[in-house]
Formats: sequence, C-alpha cells, structure tokens
Amino acid sequence: MAIAAPGCPAPLPDSAYATRCTGLAVTLAHQDGRKIYRDCPRGARPTHPLAPKLKALVEKLRCALGDRVVITSGFRSRRHNLYSWAYVQARTPRANPVSRNSRHMVGKAVDFFVRGYAYGDLKRLETKLQQWAGRLPAPLRGSSKAIWTHVYRKGEGRDPDNLHPYPYLHLQLRD
Ligand SMILES: [Zn+2]
Repeated sequence: MAIAAPGCPAPLPDSAYATRCTGLAVTLAHQDGRKIYRDCPRGARPTHPLAPKLKALVEKLRCALGDRVVITSGFRSRRHNLYSWAYVQARTPRANPVSRNSRHMVGKAVDFFVRGYAYGDLKRLETKLQQWAGRLPAPLRGSSKAIWTHVYRKGEGRDPDNLHPYPYLHLQLRD
C-alpha cells in the first residue's frame, strides 16, 4: 500500500486514471460511406500506467487540494479515443477537442476538475502547475515547458469523458 506524505491523501492507484468505456457507438458519414465507431465494452477500464512525472504533478495537486481533485480521464485505449473523437465530430465538427493522436493513449495526459473551482481558478492553477513541473525532485524534474495545459470552460470540450457541468483542465507531457 502506498504511504501518503504528511498532509496528503493516499496516492491514487493506476486504476483511478483508467477511463471508463461507454459501450456506445457513433455513426459518421464520410465521403466513401458511413462508418460506425464503437467504444470499448461498457464499464471496461483498459489500464496503462500513467507517466511518473504526470502522476507526481497530480499528487502534488492532491496534497494542496485534497479530494476536491476529480480525475475524469487518464489513459484511453485507442478504441475509446477514436470513439470519443467521433462522438464530438458528430456534434460539433468545427470545434473538435479530441485528437486522434491523443496523449491520453500513451498515459501522458490527464483531465480533471476541481470541486468548487471556476474557470478563473483553474487558469491560476495552470500557472502553478507549470511552476511545479520545473521543481519536481530529480529524476522527474523538467522545465516549466515540459507540460502543455488547456482549461475548458463550462460546456466546452465535452468529449464522452467530460460530460460533467464543470470547467476542467487537460494536462499533458510534451515528451
Ligand atoms: Zn484531455
């Protein structure tokens, strides 16, 4: 069992970063016909270890904010990511927040919201995360440019993993 640092909740297990599959499907019309994009079986949680540096950042955040940090999407299987892309494509083709080459597929991206945090609070947190990324203990230390973040407003970026009513932050490693 992982031991928590003083004042910090117990570190999250890898399973907490595993995005849940919906089992649903989306049909898109393409130039060469219609194609069905089916998600992985409902309730399945394909796991993949999250990059240690990303985990360290999330844990630093949880030490500061506790259980208010809610992970909505960590690792996505290729199939779930493609379904997520198609889901958004079917609804808002011009503002697609899901990359077909998402870093979520290699355990290098995580989405979360913070209970009680508005858009502006998440923007301030974004700056803090960049500072933290440059100050992690060796061998995780990187520079503030080691991460890329984006804060989605309430209603924006609603892929199947983020159908909640809160603004949220996408955090990913660049390398
Ligand atoms: Zn994301």
